[in-house]
Amino acid sequence: MNRIDQGAVRGPDFAVVGGGLVGRLVAWQLAGARHDVALYERGDAAGTQSAAWVAAAMLAPLAEAASAEPLVVGLGAASLERWPSLIAQLPEPVFFQRNGTLVVWHGADRAEAPLFERRLKANSPADLLDGGFVKLAGAQVAQVEPALGTRFAQGWLLPNEGQLDNRQALCALAAGLAARGVRTHWNTAVDAMPEARWIIDCRGLGGKPAWPALRGIRGEVARVHAPGIGLTRPVRLLHPRYPLYIAPKENDVYVIGATEVEGEDMSPVSVRSALELLSAAFAVHPGFGEARILELNAHCRPTLPDHRPAIVWDGARTLRVNGLYRHGFMIAPEVADAACRLAGALASGDIADAGAFSDFRGAARWPELLHGEFSAAPALSH
Ligand SMILES: Cc1cc2nc3c(=O)[nH]c(=O)nc-3n(C[C@H](O)[C@H](O)[C@H](O)COP(=O)(O)OP(=O)(O)OC[C@H]3O[C@@H](n4cnc5c(N)ncnc54)[C@H](O)[C@@H]3O)c2cc1C
Repeated sequence: MNRIDQGAVRGPDFAVVGGGLVGRLVAWQLAGARHDVALYERGDAAGTQSAAWVAAAMLAPLAEAASAEPLVVGLGAASLERWPSLIAQLPEPVFFQRNGTLVVWHGADRAEAPLFERRLKANSPADLLDGGFVKLAGAQVAQVEPALGTRFAQGWLLPNEGQLDNRQALCALAAGLAARGVRTHWNTAVDAMPEARWIIDCRGLGGKPAWPALRGIRGEVARVHAPGIGLTRPVRLLHPRYPLYIAPKENDVYVIGATEVEGEDMSPVSVRSALELLSAAFAVHPGFGEARILELNAHCRPTLPDHRPAIVWDGARTLRVNGLYRHGFMIAPEVADAACRLAGALASGDIADAGAFSDFRGAARWPELLHGEFSAAPALSH
């Protein structure tokens, strides 16, 4: 493979295309490392066009381990440790909570529990499970989450998990980009890549033209205002047909979600999904009957065939960061950091060919994230 000639290229060091969750984090981190960065986002500075705008932003690697593999669980656990210091560096506040996840189920659905527990434990490292998975019975459920009273006879507390406010995070990152001098181009859809030494493609599902295997998995959520319920942490309900979470944000706002429907349908929430989500929430706490519906929202999770995130270097001037599926907030700090390390090594000339990339990958914390597409050499697989 030829070494990369950067001599003739004009523009910033990095053009980040797609300013949802990952694009903002990557651009902000690269600017913090004193690179000259431009960011292009087809939507507004608030992030309303992104999947991140709709997300519940739960940071729940153990609860997700019931359906996510160890790589994603590990990325989630490591990212959870990073969020507080990351938020502390942003110029605006972001609600961040680390008060655990409560998992409950109705008596009729108790057959769901052993399956969930078995999968969760199979995909989780021992250090996460140690003290991180607490079985509750009888009055213990109400002691942990008084709002639920005696409605649930059993449950699990996963005390180390967290959540944050997705919209505050997007806004604070936009402010952080301005503070670090990133040239932001909001309301600018990019089809032909802009002039820059390096391109970082973070378009989420909008990256399909460059990544045909990418697909969308539709998710629908309700946002309700429910003063007086007083849940203190995200609650997950195991159910054979309508598994559900209720994530309490600030000011008595709850995000209730989420459906998982194959396909890239961005149309409004269906009546069926609204009924299922809201009925299941009502079954967790009848106080949701008096909640006011603020929004019903749908978006699609950008998903690769193996349901893993990936960072791909095309062997020339482009990195693609995508496939964060249903775990974007949970894993973004580690994924963005890995992308920025690779970007830094490319910019400094430490990586200029497939061999150097292979060495870099071998020494990386998360080698499974990194992939190369080289015409003269087979693409690296995980
Ligand atoms: C209903 C739902 C619930 C979720 N809940 C959670 C959760 O609880 N916890 C969690 O960790 N994750 C959750 N997620 C997943 C999370 O939202 C995604 O994994 C994450 O947003 C992916 O980040 P991204 O930056 O790759 O994509 P996005 O956030 O979608 O950002 C991509 C950006 O690229 C822009 N773009 C696209 N095409 C172009 C173009 N041509 N030019 C310029 N800009 C372009 C888009 O406008 C968008 O802003 C949820 C997702 C959904 C849909």
